[in-house]
Amino acid sequence: MFAFDNSYARLPDRFHTRMAPTPVAAPSWIALNEGLAGELGLDVSALRAAPEIFAGNRVPEGADPLAQLYAGHQFGGWSPQLGDGRAILLGEHVADGRRVDIQLKGSGPTPYSRKGDGRAAIGPVIREYLLSEAMHALGVPTTRALAAVRTGETVLRQEGPLPGAVLTRVAASHIRVGTFQVFAAREDTDALKRLLDYAIARHAPDADGPVGLLQHVMDVQATLIAQWMGLGFVHGVMNTDNMTISGETIDYGPCAFMEAYHPNTVFSSIDQFGRYAWSKQPDIALWNLAQLATALLPMMGEREAAVAEATSALEGFHDLYANAWTRVMTAKIGTPDMSLAMELLAIMAAGQADFTNTFRALAVAPETARDQFTDPGAFDDWFARWQTTDPDTAAMARANPAIIPRNHQVEAAIRAAEGGDDAPFHALHAVLADPWVETEANAPYRRPATADERVTRTFCGT
Ligand code: AMP
Ligand code: MG
Repeated sequence: MFAFDNSYARLPDRFHTRMAPTPVAAPSWIALNEGLAGELGLDVSALRAAPEIFAGNRVPEGADPLAQLYAGHQFGGWSPQLGDGRAILLGEHVADGRRVDIQLKGSGPTPYSRKGDGRAAIGPVIREYLLSEAMHALGVPTTRALAAVRTGETVLRQEGPLPGAVLTRVAASHIRVGTFQVFAAREDTDALKRLLDYAIARHAPDADGPVGLLQHVMDVQATLIAQWMGLGFVHGVMNTDNMTISGETIDYGPCAFMEAYHPNTVFSSIDQFGRYAWSKQPDIALWNLAQLATALLPMMGEREAAVAEATSALEGFHDLYANAWTRVMTAKIGTPDMSLAMELLAIMAAGQADFTNTFRALAVAPETARDQFTDPGAFDDWFARWQTTDPDTAAMARANPAIIPRNHQVEAAIRAAEGGDDAPFHALHAVLADPWVETEANAPYRRPATADERVTRTFCGT
């Protein structure tokens, strides 16, 4: 079924705990991602016939299941041991030279579960499935969702008992900033070196040593965060254990896309101080990269020189990000004038303009863009100046999606699935797969939430 070659399992024992997923009562399908299965060269009908594999009830041939160890800074506070508390890496599937982790999430307790039950409620599984697949369709590097199954069991959460589910996540790898941090904190330089070599071989074969890897991660993260920003995406939990070395978006917990634009937008119920607000994301990325640099220091020779070298590398992030952000925003307005783009954002914030619909309108029906503003006066002045730049609207239509997963739609799909009706989930998934065109079918999904529908808080609720 899978073509497994489990290189992470071959790393020393202290990188992971070998163990199988915990079986569940009654596996049944929510969704199998046939498109992704095809991309990975997997036999769709064989997968379809085996929901028990995606529930953790049967370990597929060639798997070497394990829970990975990592640590991390959560909301700035150090957690010396995290690790896969509700996930099991089945193994690495290799197809056409592409190596991907196949991981079950919600697959039962592990030694890293702390107080958690190792399980996932159907809501977070549906959310991750929808948002990660939407991100992929939007052209943003991301982990993917291969499958979602019900467990036939309930899990207890703050809201009460909820149906349980397991997500199958596909990732370029699950190496995080926090994977380096755990070994640095333990002063296990041998493990650090093994991890460095491993990460370089897997993600940055041209990188030269620890500084080369750092530079690579800075590069991919600058590009990634700029893409998030250009879509109004708020990750919500940019802890160092949720930042990948691969440059893929990972951990769709309390994340959400903004509707009315405001730079201070936060959704996560636990982010009381707005640490991970939309506008803070580039600074937080740099903060996380500084933690990565710190973890790499023991491999960089004499301490003082190493700190100087790491600091000077990190200073490059500002320009890397500024360039990526400029590319994103000038593509969005179809003209190379970055100050014009920044002015528009300011007017959008004041006018409570819908982030997605404003840019999309500028691309496909410019005269209607003013309808997005509570007070179009300031916009009209901007619009007149923008038009004199002869913007490339054809290119804009490829940079500004018509469709993003709107919170209230995601919530509606979750509520229905909790009640046993997966139709809204499937309908939303289908619409999100093709975000670059207006169709009759996706019209209802382009409309922002009404005041009654609006979802302003999201929950980790794992
Ligand atoms: P997250 O906030 O999703 O990045 O998770 C942070 C840490 O909490 C990770 O080590 C997770 O494995 C762990 N965790 C989250 N939810 C659960 C759960 N239901 N059971 C066990 N561990 C969990
Ligand atoms: Mg996480």
